[in-house]
Amino acid sequence: MDYFPTFFDIRHRRALVVGGGQVAERKIQLLLRAGARVGVVAEQLTENLNGRAAAGQLDAIGQTFHEDQLAGVALVIAATSDRDLNRAVAVASRTRGIPVNVVDDPKLSSFIVPAIIDRDPVMVAVSTGGASPVLARLMRRSLEQWLPEKLGAVARLARAWRERVGQRLGGIGRRRAFWEQLLESDAAKQAQAGQWRQANDSVSQLLETHATKRCSGSVALVGAGPGDPELLTLKALRLMQQADVVLYDRLVAPAIIDKCRRDAELVDVGKTSSGSSDTQSDITSMILKYATAGRRVVRLKGGDPFVFGRGGEELEAVEALGIEVTVVPGITAATGCAASAGIPLTHRDLAHGCVLATGQLRSDGDETAAMAELAELAARKHTIVLYMGIGNLALQTQQLIAHGLSSSTPVAIVENGTRPEQRVLRSSLAAVANVATRERVRAPALVIIGEVARANAYSTQSAAA
Ligand code: SAH
Repeated sequence: MDYFPTFFDIRHRRALVVGGGQVAERKIQLLLRAGARVGVVAEQLTENLNGRAAAGQLDAIGQTFHEDQLAGVALVIAATSDRDLNRAVAVASRTRGIPVNVVDDPKLSSFIVPAIIDRDPVMVAVSTGGASPVLARLMRRSLEQWLPEKLGAVARLARAWRERVGQRLGGIGRRRAFWEQLLESDAAKQAQAGQWRQANDSVSQLLETHATKRCSGSVALVGAGPGDPELLTLKALRLMQQADVVLYDRLVAPAIIDKCRRDAELVDVGKTSSGSSDTQSDITSMILKYATAGRRVVRLKGGDPFVFGRGGEELEAVEALGIEVTVVPGITAATGCAASAGIPLTHRDLAHGCVLATGQLRSDGDETAAMAELAELAARKHTIVLYMGIGNLALQTQQLIAHGLSSSTPVAIVENGTRPEQRVLRSSLAAVANVATRERVRAPALVIIGEVARANAYSTQSAAA
């Protein structure tokens, strides 16, 4: 960054402009609008400047530049076509520590004047650091079109209420939440339409609402279970019904979203199964944005937030900001699907443990090692549950077989587990990839591998036992 961006309060302070042509005139007009007391040094003034001098709006203090004209001056602009004179003005000003701009000469200037988009009191300044004034002008043109013409009215409304809001709402989070809502509310539209009475009424009402409601921000990472709304915990339901904002995943069933508070803001942050880390960091910053604005945020996640749910990253980010956070466990797909498909994950005779694993390829690419570990656990009578396992099923089942797991090991696919459209497809390690393709299995689907997945395994074994 070559320049420090700033807006300069020049009201009632002296500014000296050397030059009296068109360019000087534009700078003088700007200085006058900003409330400066302008002195001008020039052999000749434009008609407009002459008129202003006659009307007492500016001081024509001489025809030639002397250093003593700089006494008491807060800012200098040199706008003559005489390069030597401009340089002399610049050197004299800099020696005295007075900020100076030489028009179209960044090298001689200690500050540059940006292109502006003026929606008083809103001001957008564009600078290319002197690199390309034409680019700055092009950007100004597009910003001009993009910013509402009456934007200034919204800022004036905010200014009029600023002090009262400060007195009424303690805490920066609460105030920020109020302003955010206000600036997107009817009040802002009414102000832009010049309907001041209605605008003030709207602000007053909104302020009352915010002053009386409890609104220190909080976050709950809530497990929504695998789909059946009756599998929600009581705690999940309570938080969903108190939330100001609910950020939900693609995996959360519509029947569950229906149970959120009616006037909660519902935000779909659905990710694809490849959910890139960018998307995850967008979601995390959204959670933080709402929470720091004082809102009660529920981050609703399919299943359990801490089982392949990236809840850990979200928890860390929220805690780092010192925001209150609760984690509410949910029924994870493995237990949900197992229950509704009638497949016990552990069993006295058939399965001594259960491994929750992912069927997604590992980022370090060491798929063989991962599958070798799983094959070994399966050999020690552990049920293997693969989340996100459909895409790579062929590759992974081949590897499990290559690592010694019997190709006749029973496998069940549970698609849309616990939902009305649930399907359970039973087959074997050797056949399951073909079954998934033939039956057009779609996400969400879970793959359960092990003796417990055999049809009637439970009753047969019980009878035998
Ligand atoms: N946090 C979630 C898992 C997210 S990963 C949980 O604890 O359940 C997404 C994977 O979960 C899906 O690819 C699928 O394998 C599994 N899954 C989630 N809901 C499911 C459902 N209703 N039926 C089958 N599998 C499901």
